Amino acid sequence: MTNSLPAAVAVIGAGTMGNGIAQVFASCGVTTHLLDIKQDYVDKGIANVHKSLGKFQEKGTLTAEQVTAIKGRLHGGTDMGALAKVDLCVEAVTENLEVKTKVFQTADATLPAHAILASNTSSISITTLAARTRRADKVIGMHFMNPVPLMKLIEVIRGNDTSDATAEAVTEWSKGLGKIPVLANDYPGFVANRILMPMINEAAFALMEGVATREAIDEIMKLGMNHPMGPLTLADFIGLDVCVSILDVLKDGLGDDKYRACPLMRRLVAAGHLGRKTKKGFYTYS
Ligand code: NAD
Repeated sequence: MTNSLPAAVAVIGAGTMGNGIAQVFASCGVTTHLLDIKQDYVDKGIANVHKSLGKFQEKGTLTAEQVTAIKGRLHGGTDMGALAKVDLCVEAVTENLEVKTKVFQTADATLPAHAILASNTSSISITTLAARTRRADKVIGMHFMNPVPLMKLIEVIRGNDTSDATAEAVTEWSKGLGKIPVLANDYPGFVANRILMPMINEAAFALMEGVATREAIDEIMKLGMNHPMGPLTLADFIGLDVCVSILDVLKDGLGDDKYRACPLMRRLVAAGHLGRKTKKGFYTYS
């Protein structure tokens, strides 16, 4: 099972992360199916991939022939029947346990017996998702970072019953994608978000309390900590709805109020200002 890459992959959820994940697999020669609930969402996801490939071509990282070949390997649709033909399924749907459970159950029923079922969840328990399938040994977390085509890290999360063979296959495949897999165990938020989200949340509280303007908060953290971007800018990239969902998981899972999501961030989410994907979050985008 430990090949450098699977022959065929399905990515469920064509949003911010899903289309980036699909792009990376297709770019590495893997037949890739990008699936979502509505054809509109699939088309938008594929359009994003095409836009990103265009940028790589402009920079000279990819040739026109390579771009054509990658586009040819990427198939979009709403028919979950495509799962019957793949070796790996990466779920990248909305960060919500009930939504993910339904997707996992459909995937479990449709995937071939040998296939691995990975979740790109930022915080939801891999063990809980695995227990809702009949292939807990083949369920694992494959936590890609945003923007997927550029970021090297994949946080690989072993659930309680993930087998060694599954962890080894996913580690090899991650390297085959040119990424760097790093193993973590299944606790709320794993490593990346357990540490990142409290920082973003604190930045939101600082803004709400008028400690400084959004620009000043971001500039101080960028220059002072040598971060590539400030926490409020980063939150807009990630999606404020995603940030709030992760904080809820941290608060519930770790039983500590220090993870309570900032009311300002909740208010922006309630207003539909989710960050870059809706053109408005902490900042406004044209
Ligand atoms: P998103 O809202 O941009 O996209 C989610 C997509 O899932 C949407 O297109 C939606 O239509 C689709 N979807 C919802 N229910 C579905 C179903 N039943 N079947 C098929 N598709 C369905 O979200 P996102 O930011 O791409 O996040 C996806 C996952 O990746 C989440 O678990 C999130 O925590 C995780 N993640 C996000 C980031 C980030 O920076 N945004 C980073 C790492 C991991």
